[in-house]
Amino acid sequence: MTHPVYPNLFSPLDLGFTQLKNRVLMGSMHTGLEEAEHGFERMVAYFCERARGGVGMIITGGIAPNLESSTSGAQLVNPDQARQHKEITDAVHGIDPEIKICMQILHQGALSKNEGLVAPSAVKSRISRITPNALDDAGIEKQLNDFVNCAQMAKLAGYDGVEVIGSAGYLLSTFLVKKTNLREDRWGGSYRNRMRFPLEVIKRIRAAVGNEFILIFRIPAMDMLEDGMSWDEIVTLAKEMEKVGITIISTHFCWHEAKIPTIATMVPRAAFTGVTGRLRKELSVPVITSNRINTPEVAEQVLLDGEADLISMARPMLADPDFVVKAYEGREGEINTCIACNQACLDHTFGRKEGVSCLVNPRACHETLLNYTPTQQPKRIAVIGAGPAGLAYCTVASQRGHQVTLYDGADRIGGQFNLAKRIPGKEEFYETLRYYQTMLKIGNVDVHLNTWVDKTLLEAQRFDEIIIATGITPRVPAIAGIDHPKVVNYIDVIEGRVEVGKRVAIIGAGGIGFDVAELISHKGVSPSMDKDVFAREWGIDFINHPRGGVTGVEPIIEKADRKIYLLQRKDSPVGRGLGLTTGWAHRISLNKRDVKMLNAVTYQQIDDLGLHILVNNQAQLLEVDTIIICAGQESNRSLFDRLEKEGYNVKIAGGAFKATELDAKAAINQASYLAAAV
Ligand code: FAD
Ligand code: NAP
Ligand code: SF4
Repeated sequence: MTHPVYPNLFSPLDLGFTQLKNRVLMGSMHTGLEEAEHGFERMVAYFCERARGGVGMIITGGIAPNLESSTSGAQLVNPDQARQHKEITDAVHGIDPEIKICMQILHQGALSKNEGLVAPSAVKSRISRITPNALDDAGIEKQLNDFVNCAQMAKLAGYDGVEVIGSAGYLLSTFLVKKTNLREDRWGGSYRNRMRFPLEVIKRIRAAVGNEFILIFRIPAMDMLEDGMSWDEIVTLAKEMEKVGITIISTHFCWHEAKIPTIATMVPRAAFTGVTGRLRKELSVPVITSNRINTPEVAEQVLLDGEADLISMARPMLADPDFVVKAYEGREGEINTCIACNQACLDHTFGRKEGVSCLVNPRACHETLLNYTPTQQPKRIAVIGAGPAGLAYCTVASQRGHQVTLYDGADRIGGQFNLAKRIPGKEEFYETLRYYQTMLKIGNVDVHLNTWVDKTLLEAQRFDEIIIATGITPRVPAIAGIDHPKVVNYIDVIEGRVEVGKRVAIIGAGGIGFDVAELISHKGVSPSMDKDVFAREWGIDFINHPRGGVTGVEPIIEKADRKIYLLQRKDSPVGRGLGLTTGWAHRISLNKRDVKMLNAVTYQQIDDLGLHILVNNQAQLLEVDTIIICAGQESNRSLFDRLEKEGYNVKIAGGAFKATELDAKAAINQASYLAAAV
């Protein structure tokens, strides 16, 4: 039966020898679970939760065909390892035999951190410290055999197919472009020769696994490299892939080393689907699109516009494993939307310190460790503060069956997220507040806004537990002249309560300092809300598709008519503390807007002339008319201290608990664990 709202999203796709039940696939993400303690048990729980959520096809995280191609060591090369993987495929198929699960074969090539890493030529990637070994003929043959063996092991493990990644700067893509393929033998030189290795991989896999096995190739549809692949080369490769037996082509954008954001929250939704659409017109096999598709409405529209046959959503499946079933049942308001922050997923993958999870859903990849089980002893709980910490607490506690009352002094829920969502490029933060608003309703949380809570109010109500989630207060640094009328705080600036002048100094270059600089340096439409503006700002030509999509394209920026200084005391590069996978884009964005970043600053005095500073002990006067304080925050915990002292059953969460190193990830995570335990 045709779905009344999402007829395309919920239509099956016939692959000839098998069918996909809908058009949503969970894209590949490396979660680190393969190497974690009890990793396979955790992966079974992780994938099963997504399978129960209704997704049509799952692509696993990348698994290497041999040791030299792997940074993490996660490889599939023998039947013993295949038996472990079978735990996953059996469990997923046990939930619904119609769900397909394919394993991604990831050969990292020059991006592998393994000593024996290999590539077509000994060309080091801009983002790697190690130069790869150039493959000789025997080496090439070995790599081809290893790919085939890995695919055969995947079949033995019960996967419905494999996806071979041929993009992003990994092995196959480095054969395709001249800058990384300097060979003059049959594997290099002409484009026909450069295509040979990726084609040979697919051809040999197809011969080994037979026709009834899904074979997906991830093509670099716009690699974002100066002198990268031309459109003709991409189309030729895709057509050749059809000839050697590919089942599906999956479009991928950007090499990891390119300096264009393609998945961060500053990227407009579905920014790249037009490229997929053009490729689709050239092919007869189904085509997958991806990148910044995070709502069912956008996914449906992409399909309706004929831009793809399948929608890949990776991070949205971390944020909400039930995305698909909620869309199907008309419960879109309950979808916990991925805000593309990368803070708990990709930043963790590349940081390699903490396990992967999700800022808005701390259960992601922790399905066996964090569970929200129904309570046997419902309690009356008061939550003070409706920022991310308070909201997460209310959502989990009410879902578990507790009776929750929420207070906030403000006239709306959201705390600092109401500020974050006003920053150009952070509009997605609104979705988190929409989600929580829905969950408060579903959980019958008794919400009291415009209510500043003190001890008297709590005394009258006699709650079983009190949760203090009162957040922070902005720090006021001790600088001579801090009371000068030209000094303002970031809250007033973001809320538009104060006039910002033409010459501005921002004191403090943390996340908020950067965001404020972004806000006041923008003019016109936010690039994240308009694909054309985004393309202009980052120098991408979607229409003519020059090599890499970017070659010879000059970025055009609409700058605000204002001089901005962004200052910090530390002598480290400004912006170093920002997110690993997004900080570089924020720095580039502000540089493009001529924001002057200064480190090693000592603040001396503020007066009518401006801000007097020392930079590396040299005196400077910044003749500014506005000074915005973004100097960090302090916990707002006086209510907690008072209640605790008087013996109340009180707990503390989020910024109220700890302001240093606080972010929404920490606030939501901590509050969710607290609420899971009450
Ligand atoms: P808050 O969000 O501060 O909420 C506290 C709430 O308590 C407020 O609503 C307040 O009104 C209420 N309250 C206080 N006292 C009382 C009282 N006595 N009675 C009743 N109510 C009271 N974090 C990220 O992780 N990623 C980002 O990209 C990001 N961007 C940001 C951008 C900006 C511009 C800002 C300002 C912050 C950003 N943050 C970001 C930080 C993030 O918003 C905070 O870490 C998070 O909001 C902290 O949550 P919280 O619930 O502890 O406190
Ligand atoms: P922050 O990241 O800790 O930055 C505070 C800034 O103020 C630093 O530049 C610090 O650098 C400076 N500072 C601290 N004490 C000072 C003092 N006494 N005088 C002058 N300068 C001082 O805090 P934030 O910018 O307020 O952000 C709050 C939280 O929200 C952070 O945890 C942040 O991660 C999160 N957030 C994240 C994002 C994101 O994109 N991920 C965006 C916004 C906010 P010096 O000490 O070197 O001067
Ligand atoms: Fe999306 Fe951020 Fe969660 Fe990653 S951490 S899945 S980007 S919401």
